[in-house]
Amino acid sequence: MLPILARRLFHLQELALGRPSFRILFELLASECRPAERIRQLQLDRLRTLARLAYDHTPYWREVMDGLGFTPADIRTLNDLRRFPLLEKNTLRARREDMVWRGEGKRLQLVRTSGSTNEALQFYTSSTREAHINAARMRGHEWVGVRRGEKEMYYWGSPVELSKQDRVKRVRDWLINDGLTNGFEVTPERLKKNVADWLAWRPKCIFGYPSTFVLTVTMAQSLGLDLRELRKVGLEVIITTSEMLSDVDRDLIAEGFGVPVRDSYGLREAGLIGHECNEGTMHCMDEQVILETIDPQTLVPTDGEGELVVTNIVGPAFPVIRYRTGDIVTLSREPCACGRNLSSIRISGGRAVEFVVTREGKWVVGYSFIYIARSVEGIVKFQVVQEKIGEIRVRLVVDERFPADGGEQVRKKVAQRLGGDDEIRVEIVDDIAPAPSGKYRPVISKVAEELYRQRSFTSQ
Ligand SMILES: [Zn+2]
Repeated sequence: MLPILARRLFHLQELALGRPSFRILFELLASECRPAERIRQLQLDRLRTLARLAYDHTPYWREVMDGLGFTPADIRTLNDLRRFPLLEKNTLRARREDMVWRGEGKRLQLVRTSGSTNEALQFYTSSTREAHINAARMRGHEWVGVRRGEKEMYYWGSPVELSKQDRVKRVRDWLINDGLTNGFEVTPERLKKNVADWLAWRPKCIFGYPSTFVLTVTMAQSLGLDLRELRKVGLEVIITTSEMLSDVDRDLIAEGFGVPVRDSYGLREAGLIGHECNEGTMHCMDEQVILETIDPQTLVPTDGEGELVVTNIVGPAFPVIRYRTGDIVTLSREPCACGRNLSSIRISGGRAVEFVVTREGKWVVGYSFIYIARSVEGIVKFQVVQEKIGEIRVRLVVDERFPADGGEQVRKKVAQRLGGDDEIRVEIVDDIAPAPSGKYRPVISKVAEELYRQRSFTSQ
């Protein structure tokens, strides 16, 4: 599809879904170069509107403000945001139904998080909120030279079986120039096919998880496949999301594909938070989120470095105010050579290679198990552990909603995802301790770590 037509069609789709994404995109592209003072004024205006709507339409936020003895009219500066308490994930879980404004906008729906932690979280979104997220995402991609309508390959999960809805989506994707390659299960054979498909389809950008790209580059090297061929057919950038991108991994991916790697950072429940520009600065979506940092132990606000706390100022259907993300970041207002007057964020912490390897030699991305955990009610935490080839343990922390046959459901879905004849055991445990870094690791596989270390990608 011609990019200009694909862009048109995407625009029409957004309008049909009640999402003024393009209008918001143009506003964002205009505001980012305004003086920082004006952006802060916009944040204050939006915060005050949000507080007013939250007070008027949601029992939870009214209770919070009444309990602390202030009203939305008392919010006069951005510092007044700190009058709100921190919002914990558990509160969001327990009080969700009191936090939603059902009358806001169109297409209110309950969705689940896709964050990098494995604690499932449900929250509400609406067409307004989705339009803001889509616009922010489009802006980020424009920063690195990819305009909506140009070919983007999404290299991540695809359903095990295609439903009718998925087939409709495939056609729609084709019309708007979005491609989809399964990045959840990678084998040497599939990788060869993927690369051939990409060379034929000619994407300008490939979008996916850092871990999938790292595996792709290392596996391609061991197979003698040159990913830099893609540059000759138009590949200009790799955009990563959802996991920590370490400098080592970034260099490895950039070297492997021969194009720059740009990272983005968002949380489904809080919106798109940051996207890198071509100077390598991760700019914050200041028009949509107000960011603070706190000391994760004492909860005292810190100056620049600490646990990120997010307020989304453009999602009144489900106000998210001072939400604790659990991510350690550094915020800055240093100017960037690109000229955008947006603040910036740097995310700290590393990431381990998170795959399991099946007996047949299939590398299955840790992320794909998050989708399985989300598909069964009552799973609070989960972890996949692989000590030996052919043996997979799935550890679950569950609550009272977990069905009697939940363990069997999980086992079947994991078996379906893995294919082959690996032995899968499901264990219900009291708790799953985080790694020393404080982050949950959804997948721990000694097998994958060892094979990866040896660059051994064929089975057995
Ligand atoms: Zn910049």
